[in-house]
Amino acid sequence: MRYIEQIYINGQFVKPQGTKIQDLISPTTQQLIGRVTLGNEDDARIAIAAAKEAFKTFSKTTVEERIQMLQRLHDAILDRSDDMIEANITEYGAPKLAAIGRVKLAAENFMDTKEALEQFEFVKYIGTAKVVSEPIGVIGIITPWNATYSQITAKLGSAIAAGCPVVIKPSELSAIQAQLITECFHEAGIPSGVINVVNGLGQTVGTELTRNPDVAMISFTGSTRTGKDIRRGAVETMKRVTLELGGKSPNIILDDADFNTAIPTSVRQCFNNNGQACVAGTRLLIPEHRLEEVKVLAKKAVEAIKVGNPWDEDTVLGPIITEKQYNQVQRYIKSGIDEGAELIIGGLGRPEGLEQGYFVKPTVFANVTEDMTIAKEEIFGPVLSILTYQTEEQAIEMANNTNYGLGAYISSSNIDKANEIASRIAAGLVLINGAGFEMKAPFGGFKQSGIGREYGAYGLEECFESKTITGYKS
Ligand code: NAD
Repeated sequence: MRYIEQIYINGQFVKPQGTKIQDLISPTTQQLIGRVTLGNEDDARIAIAAAKEAFKTFSKTTVEERIQMLQRLHDAILDRSDDMIEANITEYGAPKLAAIGRVKLAAENFMDTKEALEQFEFVKYIGTAKVVSEPIGVIGIITPWNATYSQITAKLGSAIAAGCPVVIKPSELSAIQAQLITECFHEAGIPSGVINVVNGLGQTVGTELTRNPDVAMISFTGSTRTGKDIRRGAVETMKRVTLELGGKSPNIILDDADFNTAIPTSVRQCFNNNGQACVAGTRLLIPEHRLEEVKVLAKKAVEAIKVGNPWDEDTVLGPIITEKQYNQVQRYIKSGIDEGAELIIGGLGRPEGLEQGYFVKPTVFANVTEDMTIAKEEIFGPVLSILTYQTEEQAIEMANNTNYGLGAYISSSNIDKANEIASRIAAGLVLINGAGFEMKAPFGGFKQSGIGREYGAYGLEECFESKTITGYKS
C-alpha cells in the first residue's frame, strides 16, 4: 500500500489543506494499492502564491543556469527509473516494455527542450524594432492519466527553459507516479517555488488554476470536453491556454500499399498504450475491393497480440485504467454491435482467463459507416473500426470528416502520393508508412483536438510573451 499524504509546495513536501481521500486501485488486479489525500482550492492558491514569488528571481536566471537545471531534471529521472517503471506498470497497467520506453521519453523530453533552449533567439531585430521574448509568468500544468510522466515533463521542460515557475495538477488517478516524479524534481535541486505539485480534482484544484489571476497560462492535456471548460474558465483573466485534446485519427491505406505490413502496423497504431492513446489510429480507411483481405489480415494481427499481465515482457495490451473507463469501452463495443457493424474479432466482456482486472478484448469492426458512433467518438480503448472508400478523393474526405484533427496515418508504396495526401489532411501530425514520432518537432491538434503546440522549440515559444521595443538606440 502506498499512502500519498503530501503535496509539494515551495520546495517542500507538505500536508495539504484538503482532507478528501481517494483510493488507488490497480487496473490489473482491481486490488486497493494506495490512498491519496487530495489538495483543494486553498492548496492551489498557496502553490500559486509560491510560484508567483519564485517568478521574480527565476525569470531573471540565465540561459546557462536553466540548461543546467534541465540536465539535472533529466538525470534525476534516470536515477529513479526503476521505481518509475514499477509505478507505471502497477498504477497504470502499462506493459513492461512500454513503461521502460515511457520513463526514457520523460527524461529525454528535458534534453530535447535543452537543445531548443540552446538554439533559441531571445532577441530579434525586425525593422526598427528590437523584439524580446520574455517568460509569460506562472504556468498551470494540468495532465491526464494516460501518459503521466511524459506529459508532465514535456510541459515542465518548456516552462523551465522559458523561466516560468509552474503549479502542476496531475490526474487524480496517477498519484503514485506523480509522487515519484515530484521526488525527482526535488532531487534535481530546482529553486524553491519554481516547481509545485498539487494533487486534487479537476473541479477544485484544476478550476482554481484556470481562474486564478496570478496564473498567466494553462498548459493542459486531456479530453476535449474538459479543454472547453478550461478555455471558458480562462477567458475572464485572459490567460493563454494550450490544449492538447482528444482525437479520432484516420489511417488511410492506399491500394498500392503493402497490406501484409500495413494492416498489422495499423492494428498496433490503434492499440498502442492499451488503446488509450490520444493519437490512436482508430479509423482504418481501406479500398472497398480489399475488404475481405483486410478482415483476414486484421484478425490475424489481433490474434498475435498478447493481452494480459503487464509485467510479462511479451504483453502488448494491458488493462484499461478504471472500471468507469472499462464500462465506457464496453458501451462503445455494444453500440458498434447494435448499430450494425460487423464484429471481426473481440467483442463484449473480458478475454478468456482474465476475469480479474479491467481487460478488454482487442476488438475490430468491419463494415463501419461514418454515421456510426464508433466511427465518430473517441473510445479510448483497443477498438478498431474499418471503413471502406471507393476513390482516394473519398478517402481524404472521410479522413477529414471529423471534429478532431490530432493525428493521421498513411500507407502507400508511392511516396509522392503519400506526401500529397499528407498535405490535404487536417491534422497536426501525419505518420507515413509506419514512421515513428519525432519528439523535437511540434505536437498538437487541428480543430477540436486542441490549441497550440508542445515539445521542442514550438513548446518553448508558447511560454513567452513578445515585447517590441523601438527607439532603443540612443
Ligand atoms: P480529463 O479531461 O478527464 O482530465 C484531464 C485532467 O484535467 C485531469 O487532471 C483532470 O483532473 C483535470 N480536469 C478535469 N476537469 C477539469 C476542470 N473542469 N478544470 C480543470 N481541470 C480539470 O481527461 P482524462 O480522462 O484524464 O484523459 C483522457 C483524455 O485525454 C482523452 O480524451 C485523450 O485523448 C486526451 N489526451 C490527449 C493528449 C494529447 O496530447 N492531445 C494526450 C493524452 C491524452
